[in-house]
Amino acid sequence: MEVLIDTQTCSNPLNCYLCLERCPEKVFGTQPRTPRQPGALAQDWVIFPVFASQCTGCLECIEFCPRRAITVLPQSNYRKLRALLSLIREILFGKKTAWSWK
Ligand code: SF4
Ligand code: SF4
Repeated sequence: MEVLIDTQTCSNPLNCYLCLERCPEKVFGTQPRTPRQPGALAQDWVIFPVFASQCTGCLECIEFCPRRAITVLPQSNYRKLRALLSLIREILFGKKTAWSWK
């Protein structure tokens, strides 16, 4: 399964953590939104699917996420979605990406 987090929608996970608490497979973790500077504490954290390969597709995280920031997809659908998003981005913004329909 592929687990996607909309980190703009989930802007402050430190006030929630429901996905971390509810996921039976402990898929989620946190990481700084931007790379840490030496000697500086990270202030801005995002949820990250650290162990996405352990996801069983139970969808509990989606059920409990109050912001609807989580998407869980089978691998093949994930690839098609990424390709579609890349195509849309290329049409809208003229940016080419490595993804293609295959
Ligand atoms: S679908 Fe289930 S196993 Fe997968 S990340 Fe969500 S809660 Fe965890
Ligand atoms: S449950 Fe949703 S809103 Fe809460 S931390 Fe997880 S992704 Fe963010």
